[in-house]
Amino acid sequence: MGISSRCQQFPSTLRRPEGRLFVILTLDMNIRLYNTLTRQKEDFKPIHEGKAGIYACGPTVYWFAHVGNFRSFIFSDILRRTLVHCGLDVTFVMNITDVGHLTDDASDGEDKMIVAMKREGKTAYEIAEFYTQEFLKDVERLNILSADVYPRATEHIQEQIDMVVALEKNGYTYKTSDGIYFDTSKLNDYGRLSGQSAEEKMAGARIDMGEKKNPTDFALWKFSPTDAQRDMEWESPWGKGFPGWHIECSAMSAKYLDVPFDIHTGGIDHIAVHHENELAQTKGAANELQANIWMHGEFLAVDGGKMSKSLGNLYTVDDLIEKGYDPLALRYLMLGAHYRTKLNFTFEALTAAQNALHRLRETVRSWEKPEGRCVELEERFSEALADDLNTPQALAVLWELIDGDHQSGAKAQTLLSFDEVLGLGLQEYVGVPLDIPAQVQALVDQRKTARAEKDWALSDELRDKVIELGYVVEDTEQGQVVKKG
Ligand code: AMP
Ligand code: ZN
Repeated sequence: MGISSRCQQFPSTLRRPEGRLFVILTLDMNIRLYNTLTRQKEDFKPIHEGKAGIYACGPTVYWFAHVGNFRSFIFSDILRRTLVHCGLDVTFVMNITDVGHLTDDASDGEDKMIVAMKREGKTAYEIAEFYTQEFLKDVERLNILSADVYPRATEHIQEQIDMVVALEKNGYTYKTSDGIYFDTSKLNDYGRLSGQSAEEKMAGARIDMGEKKNPTDFALWKFSPTDAQRDMEWESPWGKGFPGWHIECSAMSAKYLDVPFDIHTGGIDHIAVHHENELAQTKGAANELQANIWMHGEFLAVDGGKMSKSLGNLYTVDDLIEKGYDPLALRYLMLGAHYRTKLNFTFEALTAAQNALHRLRETVRSWEKPEGRCVELEERFSEALADDLNTPQALAVLWELIDGDHQSGAKAQTLLSFDEVLGLGLQEYVGVPLDIPAQVQALVDQRKTARAEKDWALSDELRDKVIELGYVVEDTEQGQVVKKG
């Protein structure tokens, strides 16, 4: 503790025996991350030297995750990959929220899991399992590294009950007719994450207090209704019921990372309520700061506005694939904006991202076997990421590498090290010439003859036929070059 973590790349053989061999690069720079808790960029000081623990708030699994959710998940993936790139041994935990919760802490909200059950005629467990698997499929398609653990809320009920018991013992709880609540007035620094006092938090908000003592109080444990049986309910010291919305993350992060751990992530919508309440629970139960650094990704807007099912603009990864997009084009699009700036999703922007990715892939096919490196660019790339994950700057360095005139083997080696962080799946393309189908090759050969005979009309006709087959042919000083269209 106390020593900032410097961005130092070690030979990958030390970390990933199966990985490719990178030469030692030691950079004299600190990793700086913006901490919502202190409202400033800070030098990252790992709790355990050489290691980092990250807890990322994961998906609620009663529907498909949408492109906005994936902006948050790609952001935490880039954080993780950057820390690994800098030589840290990272443990990455992402929860799966598979318990239904009321939409808010007031008693009249509609439980989203129950809505999904009615919509699909399935049990809560079937809904959760189906959308968890869909989520994991999308994670793979977006080249997001798998978490070391994906703890599910339903599999950690005892840990959540234990935490509520600890809070009760420490005097932070009270009981109402519908559950056990956290008394936020008992914690003198409640509101420190959002920087808002309880009065400020509530200004302008229409709050149904129910039997709550303070507007910011929230449910730790909800009692099952007496007139109906829930699919998901458990026995507890307070009777049959189910955990409140926030307790799972405090309980499961403590189980898998210990508290305090290094970094907690999520989207900005989590700051004011979910993360504020997680922080309060861990402080109340364990008298510990849950995490040293709290990082939040800005929202993704669609066509300049909010995403919503009713507007029909809530796109899933499947929707993008159906429209002919490569999921990695979405990843490329996300990398083009810093995680703390707003990003607007449009299909025009996605098309531009797909074209850029395409150019990248096709360019690197002709490169030689990875050998050597472009040191100065590697340093600038690492510097960009170590500066609060500046991915737009890192992409700019990538394009300097692509268009620069270093020897292609050195470019290939450096590019692959960049892609360990960017995750654009470029290893499939570097130095791998296109496998051109015989039919396309025959057209290209005929076109060569046509051009030699200056039959430009036939040459153009043959080019169009090549395009119809999904390829393009370009005329360069070295002759015709065929690429994937
Ligand atoms: P949820 O499944 O609603 O709990 O959300 C999962 C993650 O996605 C959380 O970290 C949210 O903050 C984040 N999120 C939700 N909507 C958006 C959006 N439009 N843009 C970026 N992140 C989002
Ligand atoms: Zn959470």
